[in-house]
Amino acid sequence: MLAVQPHYDDNDIACAGTLIRLSNAGAEVVYVTVTDDLAGVLDASLDDTEARRRLVAEQHEAGAIVGVSGFEALGWADAAGLDRIALRDQVVELVRRYRPEVLLTVDPWLRHEAHSDHTITGLAVSEAAVLSGLPRFRPQAGLAPHEVRAVAYCFTDEPTTVVDTSDVQERRHAALDCYRSQFTDEGLARLHAGLDRVEQSWAPSGATHGERLKVLAPHRLHVGIGG
Ligand SMILES: [Zn+2]
Repeated sequence: MLAVQPHYDDNDIACAGTLIRLSNAGAEVVYVTVTDDLAGVLDASLDDTEARRRLVAEQHEAGAIVGVSGFEALGWADAAGLDRIALRDQVVELVRRYRPEVLLTVDPWLRHEAHSDHTITGLAVSEAAVLSGLPRFRPQAGLAPHEVRAVAYCFTDEPTTVVDTSDVQERRHAALDCYRSQFTDEGLARLHAGLDRVEQSWAPSGATHGERLKVLAPHRLHVGIGG
């Protein structure tokens, strides 16, 4: 799985429990972070180099807890406007290089999503899933076309599935504690409590916690025909 997130903490806030279960089951999960996330760092006195160093260190610390097998950082400036087509082409190249079964990203059609890094990332990844299997689309030496089986959207209000994350709650929450540059202690406590509450309300029958995803095959992402 390639898990493409606008900011370093999005995958883990949205669905660390699902990603832990996947890595436990032997899946290779690679995190792709689109922006440098600098706008989210709370300490305004840090210089950019040190802020970047901390963000990457926190990502690797959380990734070790989740079981992430690799990291890519695309380095777009945070909250500064993404070029959707250029980002789409970067994702196509990554898809052809890693050849994942599934792309995970944020749902660009979430009803009240106002952050353009989220909407543009979700749309760019979706279009990459539509185009990456076409041999005449951006042919590049050594990178054969590759079509993913599905796109899984997190931060969605149109879930098609709920993953039982009851057994991985401790690691799910431990991963969030790594993102200290972006949260005060109070903010982290609120995040833990809020996720615990909604994930209990989403729990499938017999489970204590669940994470919601919208999972679609690529052919569902263009013109609405194809079943
Ligand atoms: Zn984000």
